[in-house]
Amino acid sequence: MIIFGTKGYLYQLAILTLVCGRCGNPAAHTLRKRVTKFTLFFVPLFPVSTKYATQCTFCGAEQQVSREQAEQLQAQETDGQAYGPADRQQPYRRP
Ligand SMILES: [Zn+2]
Repeated sequence: MIIFGTKGYLYQLAILTLVCGRCGNPAAHTLRKRVTKFTLFFVPLFPVSTKYATQCTFCGAEQQVSREQAEQLQAQETDGQAYGPADRQQPYRRP
């Protein structure tokens, strides 16, 4: 007897500040990746679908985004961490 099925995985990729399309607030949004994997005897073998979505933490609105968009958003976030607004202001500060 062969037991197979699918298993869903949810990855939180980033937390971004975006203006929400629903509530209009510049709120924190989580960027998530949802991967569905094919399992055989409960062992996940390969992904059958990968979906990306952002979710507003203010109103909970979820919006699906493409992989390209998700990658762009992630790149922005990495950028923001390395050179956050506070760091960016420092070179212009005079003692
Ligand atoms: Zn919202």
